[in-house]
Amino acid sequence: MAAALQNWGCRDHNLIQRTLDGLRDDHPPACRAKDAITTCAHAYMVMSAHAAHRGCPRYTAAANYLVAAP
Ligand SMILES: [Zn+2]
Repeated sequence: MAAALQNWGCRDHNLIQRTLDGLRDDHPPACRAKDAITTCAHAYMVMSAHAAHRGCPRYTAAANYLVAAP
């Protein structure tokens, strides 16, 4: 039961974060970083750091790297 409540809390937080990101329609500087992603490890790191951001360009760049990675 506690775990279920924790899940809901987590989900709500993410929902609020996504809503705020959508309303602002911009991203903090880290999300607009343009430095190249050169390894899968780096891509995973970036994705975990930006996973909660809706439409985050940095997250998308990392995801694209992994898709294109051999
Ligand atoms: Zn981000």
